Amino acid sequence: IQALCAMILIIINRSTLAIDISSLTLDLGLGEKLSTDPEALESASHDYGHIVTKTPTAVLKPAFTDDIATLIVSAYNHSTPFSIAAKGCGHSVRGQAMVNNGVVISMTSLKNGVIVSGNSSSGFVADVGSEQLWIDVLEATLKHGLAPVSWTDYLHITVGGTLSNAGISGQTFRFGPQISNVYEIDVITGKGQFLTCTAKNNSELFHAVLGGLGQFGIITRARIPLEPAPQRVKWVRMLYSDFSAFTRDQERLISINGRKDDKAVDYVEGSLMMGSSENWRSSFFDPANYSIIISLITTHGIIYSLEVVKYYNDQTRFTVDEELQLMLKGLNYIPGLMFEKDVSYINFLNRVQAGEEELRSQGLWEVPHPWLNLFIPKSQIENFNDGVFRNIVLKRNITSGLVLVYPMNRNKWDDRMSAVIPDEDVFYTVGFLRASGFDNWKVFDDQNREILKFCEEARIEVKQYLPHHTTKEDWMKHFGPKWKAFVERKSMFDPKSILSPGQGIFNSN
Ligand code: FAD
Repeated sequence: IQALCAMILIIINRSTLAIDISSLTLDLGLGEKLSTDPEALESASHDYGHIVTKTPTAVLKPAFTDDIATLIVSAYNHSTPFSIAAKGCGHSVRGQAMVNNGVVISMTSLKNGVIVSGNSSSGFVADVGSEQLWIDVLEATLKHGLAPVSWTDYLHITVGGTLSNAGISGQTFRFGPQISNVYEIDVITGKGQFLTCTAKNNSELFHAVLGGLGQFGIITRARIPLEPAPQRVKWVRMLYSDFSAFTRDQERLISINGRKDDKAVDYVEGSLMMGSSENWRSSFFDPANYSIIISLITTHGIIYSLEVVKYYNDQTRFTVDEELQLMLKGLNYIPGLMFEKDVSYINFLNRVQAGEEELRSQGLWEVPHPWLNLFIPKSQIENFNDGVFRNIVLKRNITSGLVLVYPMNRNKWDDRMSAVIPDEDVFYTVGFLRASGFDNWKVFDDQNREILKFCEEARIEVKQYLPHHTTKEDWMKHFGPKWKAFVERKSMFDPKSILSPGQGIFNSN
């Protein structure tokens, strides 16, 4: 009987909402922008993860920022407030940008663009619509010879989506995550209030929203500092069989004297190479070296690839090689196994695009992605290597996909923001970027659970990046000492829990 009642309630709620959506369209003047077209609903009901499906009642395709405020105000004042999820590109993997029985806002319908302003004495900035993809920001700013300094590996994701998480890549150790590189944001709160905020004005909202998983408001514009863009990059990969040597060298490279340190490299990442050559074969390695790499993998099980970049331009092109050699001097990679490339800055930043195109052409892009992204304190990274890389990942007979490992400096993050990181000066990010078939993603998910269980038992204080938790207890543990402020900010800015329910923090709609 209980189950039946629950079902009836869901049906009543859904039909109530359906009626409201059509009257909303009339009342609010949103017209065809608020769509119940099956194609729009279908596209809003899945994401890059292809693991979760949720069907909204309608999709808003806003033409103006005001359309978003109008919708939120009506949800807020509604007798049964309905849920709203901003969706950037939907490159989340666990339904974070989805909603059942509510409205998905397709942010990329906005066309607020990128406006560059400033001068060389006060500095340059870009005012960027949150719907913009990072590739759009790059292309628009490069026209002025300028660029932001902090990036993600992949550029076909929205500014609003990454600022709701953190936005990390190999530049983070030096320049901080993308959330540390924002001067000002426009936000529409869960009450429908439009506010411009900075670290000084409306600072509570500013810090709440950055890394806030979409819980406090919808970002519509971000002001991002720009610097003169480099023209080209020297891009180097070195191979290690010894994990301690690999992490020691990574940590040496990220220990710098501030972001202007011209004796520092500009980018540090790392990855695992194991299993068959399909997992690691890339244009980076000279095929003449394949057999030696394969024999090293056979001997050691895992080879670690350290990736470093130094930017340069016309003025520094004659000195960059020497500078780079100095920076890399004394590193303990396997002698002879250093590989080098020289590419344009844009090709380097947009490097994942070629991989995407290839996967798309093979029908392997729109498949389940049971990803797991973790932050791990430096003091525990050896334990993690032994317990997870060697004892779990290497031993199981499933393709592990790309596994990234690289360190960052805590002092480049702002603790007042909602983003959560380990409490150590240096911590690593490890990304298990898995792709699976539609019928076997659970096998990968089981391994993710095994990894998290191992960390818990070994008392490794991991924090999930792009987090996915299913219980309130796990969310409380995730936020730790920040939980109280997170809840207070929620009641301040989205008291009716309207926004981003797909994160599953305050409701599970
Ligand atoms: P969505 O998935 O659409 O949304 C994410 C969350 O943010 C949702 O909760 C949504 O409701 C909320 N949201 C979206 N827009 C707004 C807004 N304007 N205001 C408030 N809330 C909003 N991340 C990194 O940090 N570094 C990487 O190198 C990196 N590489 C990636 C590579 C690939 C191939 C993919 C698929 C993802 C990668 N990511 C990376 C993860 C990516 O940053 C997140 O998935 C991000 O959320 C994607 O942005 P999106 O625009 O698709 O957001």
